[in-house]
Amino acid sequence: MAQPIIALAQTAPGQALERLTLAAPEAPTGYEVDLEIHHCSVCHSDVHLVDGDWGEVKKPLIPGHEIVGRVLRQGPRSHHQVGAMVGVGWQAGACGACAACVSGREHLCTGGKVRTCVGRQGGFATELRVDARFAFALPEGLDLGTAAPLLCAGLTVFSPLERFKVGPGRRVGVVGVGGLGHMAVQFAKALGAEVIGFDPDLSKRELALKLGARELVSATGPLPSNAVDLLLVTTHANLDWTAWMNTLTLEGTMCLIGVPSKPLTVSVDPLMDEQKTVTGSVIGSPASMRAMLSLAAAHKLAPITERMPMSQANAALQRVREGAARLRVVLDRDLG
Ligand SMILES: [Zn+2]
Ligand SMILES: [Zn+2]
Repeated sequence: MAQPIIALAQTAPGQALERLTLAAPEAPTGYEVDLEIHHCSVCHSDVHLVDGDWGEVKKPLIPGHEIVGRVLRQGPRSHHQVGAMVGVGWQAGACGACAACVSGREHLCTGGKVRTCVGRQGGFATELRVDARFAFALPEGLDLGTAAPLLCAGLTVFSPLERFKVGPGRRVGVVGVGGLGHMAVQFAKALGAEVIGFDPDLSKRELALKLGARELVSATGPLPSNAVDLLLVTTHANLDWTAWMNTLTLEGTMCLIGVPSKPLTVSVDPLMDEQKTVTGSVIGSPASMRAMLSLAAAHKLAPITERMPMSQANAALQRVREGAARLRVVLDRDLG
C-alpha cells in the first residue's frame, strides 16, 4: 500500500523549503517506477531553481535531481527489479521520436524538455515516480552513499570525455577543480588520459594530484601554450577565451560545461590557422550514463561529499549557494 509522500517544497518565490505532504500515488502503469529515495545530492541547478535565477518555475518546487533510490513498485513495462537500487538524474523523459532520440542522443531531444525537478517533483522527498527508461541500475561496486552526484555532475563531465574520445595518449585540461571538475579529473585519468587541472586556488594542488592530475596550474596565468587536446571548462566565470584557446594543441577542442553569463568572444585566428573548436555539452545520453556508472564502479571513482540529513535541505542549499560545500552535499533520507 502506497503511503503519502513527504517532500520539501518551495511554495512561493524566494521562500525557504517547507514540509509538504503529497497524496499517496496510484498504482504505477506503463514505464512508471516508484522509488523510495535514500540519497539525493544538491546540484548548483537546484540553487538556481530555488533562487529563481532561471525565471520562476511551477510551484510547489521540490528540488533534487541526483537521486539514489530503491524500486518500490513499477508498471508492467519497466525493466527494473523491485528492490533494486537505481539512480535518476536531470533528464526525466524524452519524446522518443525526434532525430536526437532515434539516434541515441535523447539528452538533445527537441520534442520538449522533461526535467526531474522542473514542473514535476524532484528528489527532496520520501518517494518519487520516474520513467523506467530514465532510471539507471547502479552497478555492483558503487558506494551508494556517495553515488548520487554521479547522476548529474558525473554524467555532465563524462559525456564530453566520451564524445571527444579521450583515452591513452590524449591530454585533457580541466578548468576549475570544484564540484564538477574534481569528477572530471578522475574520469579523464580513468580513461587513460594525462590530466592538467587549472584553478585560481593553488591550495587545491594536493587534492588535484590525488585525484589523478599530473599538475595543477594557476588559472590566473601564465597559461601554458599547446598543452592540452581537450579543455573542459567547468566554471561559470567569463574567462579570456582567446587566452584559453592558446592552451590547446593543434585542432584541439574547448568544451564548456559551465554557463558563463556573457556571450563568448574568441579571436578567429585559432579557429582558422589552427582549426581549433569551441563547443559545449549538456548532461549526456542514457547510453553515456550507463557507461559512466560502469567506469565509476570499475575504477572505484567517487565524488567527494559532505553528508547531511535531508531535513536540513535549506542549510545544504545555502552551503552550495555560498560555495562552501566540500565538494558536493548529499542529503540522506530522514523525512517521514
Ligand atoms: Zn544538476
Ligand atoms: Zn526526442
